[in-house]
Amino acid sequence: MKLERKVSLSKYTTIRVGGVADFIAYPKDFEDVKECIRISQWEDMPLFVLGRGANTIFGDFRGMVINTKLLDDVKVKDLGYGLEVTAQAGVSLNTLVELGLRENLEGIYKLAGFPATVGGAIAMNAGAFGYEISNHLKSVKFMLYNGEVVQEHRENLEFSYRRSPFPEKGIVLEAVFFFPKVDYPIYQEYESIRLKRKKTQPVQMPTAGSTFKNPPSHSAGRLLEEVGMKGYKLGNIAFSEKHANFLVNLGKASFEEVIKIIDVAKRRVLEEFGVELEEEVRLIESSSPYGWKVCGA
Ligand SMILES: Cc1cc2nc3c(=O)[nH]c(=O)nc-3n(C[C@H](O)[C@H](O)[C@H](O)COP(=O)(O)OP(=O)(O)OC[C@H]3O[C@@H](n4cnc5c(N)ncnc54)[C@H](O)[C@@H]3O)c2cc1C
Repeated sequence: MKLERKVSLSKYTTIRVGGVADFIAYPKDFEDVKECIRISQWEDMPLFVLGRGANTIFGDFRGMVINTKLLDDVKVKDLGYGLEVTAQAGVSLNTLVELGLRENLEGIYKLAGFPATVGGAIAMNAGAFGYEISNHLKSVKFMLYNGEVVQEHRENLEFSYRRSPFPEKGIVLEAVFFFPKVDYPIYQEYESIRLKRKKTQPVQMPTAGSTFKNPPSHSAGRLLEEVGMKGYKLGNIAFSEKHANFLVNLGKASFEEVIKIIDVAKRRVLEEFGVELEEEVRLIESSSPYGWKVCGA
């Protein structure tokens, strides 16, 4: 298994912010994933599973990052009325979206236009336009932090708005979906979704998507706009002029700048509206209160 030491993390995330990781591992099969868990436990190192890094902002990480990009196998079974798709964690979400467009499948095309792996999308229960990745999920195969592999049916896993049992419960290895075929054309709706994203989101800039979750019966973007965060700049990081809930990296933004601007936004929204915003982005740094130690969890 390929293992790199002292790796700069900025190029592994879409917002291009990051310190240094002690190790990055590239498992090519499930045995390698087990080996990563074993090493991290021997060395008592925190472990972080990384997909496309589209929802992750790193500081320094004194531990091991598992990059799932080599777990990229996809199997498709045509059942006539729909497709059963088995995809490993590192498969790009876009592969499923393209399949959906080609085969006229229900729902999955609504997740067009944002970067993700299957593992990251399941962990985040990624969603858009009223559709979530868990909608057509049948089962998930994952590895517990003791190395045991478990396959669990969708009904036994709890998903809600941008929430899933992962990665706390284990490392997603593979997922099985069933996408029904529909007899109406989906291409037009797909096109309008794509154009809407382009118009309303800073898709050409380094960003991590929505910074905060929408609080119940509020839009985080609207609250941020009303407290003057749209276009607000702090050093090399800013809330986008196009979308107040998207942070954009203006150059070489640091993790510390990200933390500061998030604190300003949360404080203003709390003071003005009494609403506590919760981060949707994962802020990962091993030595701070924002750290994310999942090893042995
Ligand atoms: C321009 C833009 C637009 C976006 N729009 C949307 C949107 O409309 N809807 C939406 O939901 N999101 C959106 N996002 C956010 C992001 O694309 C999603 O959260 C996506 O699901 C993240 O996938 P990833 O592979 O990049 O995950 P990462 O950022 O790599 O990881 C995210 C979390 O998942 C965990 N994880 C990753 N892989 C695994 C695994 N194999 N097993 C267990 N845990 C794992 C990580 O540990 C981390 O906690 C957007 C992002 C961008 C940049």
